[in-house]
Amino acid sequence: VSEDPRSIVRRSDPSRSVSRPLTTPLQPSAAYVTTDPDQLDDVYEGREPGFTYAREGHPNAVAVAQTIGWLEGADDGSGVVTGSGMAATGAVFLGLLDRGDHVVGGDQLYGRTRRLLDVDLPRMGFATSTVDTTDAAKVAAAIRPETRMILVEVVANPTLRVADIPAIAEVARRHDVLFVVDNTFTTPRAFRPLEHGADVVVHSVTKMLAGHSDVTLGFVVANTAERNDALRQTVVTWGLTPSPFDCWLAERGLHTFELRYDRAEANAVLLADHLVGLRGVEAVIYPTRSDHPDHDRAESLLGGRGGTIVSFRLEGGWDEAAAFVRAASPLSFAPTLGDVSTLISHPASSSHRGLTPDQRRALGITDGFIRLSVGIEDPDLLTSILTRALGG
Ligand SMILES: *Cc1c(COP(=O)(O)O)cnc(C)c1O
Repeated sequence: VSEDPRSIVRRSDPSRSVSRPLTTPLQPSAAYVTTDPDQLDDVYEGREPGFTYAREGHPNAVAVAQTIGWLEGADDGSGVVTGSGMAATGAVFLGLLDRGDHVVGGDQLYGRTRRLLDVDLPRMGFATSTVDTTDAAKVAAAIRPETRMILVEVVANPTLRVADIPAIAEVARRHDVLFVVDNTFTTPRAFRPLEHGADVVVHSVTKMLAGHSDVTLGFVVANTAERNDALRQTVVTWGLTPSPFDCWLAERGLHTFELRYDRAEANAVLLADHLVGLRGVEAVIYPTRSDHPDHDRAESLLGGRGGTIVSFRLEGGWDEAAAFVRAASPLSFAPTLGDVSTLISHPASSSHRGLTPDQRRALGITDGFIRLSVGIEDPDLLTSILTRALGG
């Protein structure tokens, strides 16, 4: 009792409680205590359950990995949580490629992923090509003898084009190359890549899975123990490990993932239809709408689940987009997606600012292009804000 509680002898349970916490404790400890070298050896070799050093793994990351792995239909405990979505994508390249390998990627990948393919991988001795993934023939045509990997997103940002996953999976199988799917936009609620021929699934947990824009995390899982081991070793060696606090918040977010997804998707369907009738709206883009170019594929591949993102083009350009953003207050203008609240983004000034105006036009991204990441608010509130912002 008289002992200083900050004593160098730290107790794991200073309260000596007979009860346990209802919620998962946050465990920021950077290292774990074992009794002796024999027990430490048992833990390192997996003969006993436990942890050694937080970069190698910690309880809060395990909780998140188990949940997302389960949602994706992966083998129990086989996935790994990373410090960001880009860390997960980085681990895929660093862990599963050898120098000289060639990678085929989608031409509408997430901006930083595109930069990895265009700038960083070539610098490191990997060759890369980017192709239109709505056309599997173009993917097949890009395959070379040294191609080792195909990387796609199911639904492209912000044009919401839907990749021909079954045909690309067949190309990958025929040429014996790894098929990697970034499932951030679709989430396992709409699509489970491992059931459609993917070898590896990548997530930015930052977005819909965690769902509250207060963590930066990623996740990666593969379909064999060997690949999962390579990914885990890469994450630990390159220090791509997540923070316990972020994992703790993400675990809480994951409890409501399906509820949030379904509500946001229902709102998105409603807003897509509502926007069609509003003044100044030139075109509305939503995968399950009958005027979407990949409508049939959205029905067959995604089971009619159009997702939580709605894009639209305003007549006019930059000034009209800026006026809309200001008029749509209190909706926030922020370059992320998957939040509980509806967020507006303007690709020409954010995600696609690195492209030339001609490159953007080729994708259909005008200066008046707006993307909504639809949240879980009262749908009547959202429709009234948009109606008011677009002048009735
Ligand atoms: C945000 C995002 C990423 C990157 O994830 P971070 O957590 O920001 O590193 C990768 N892919 C897609 C599709 C994304 O939306």
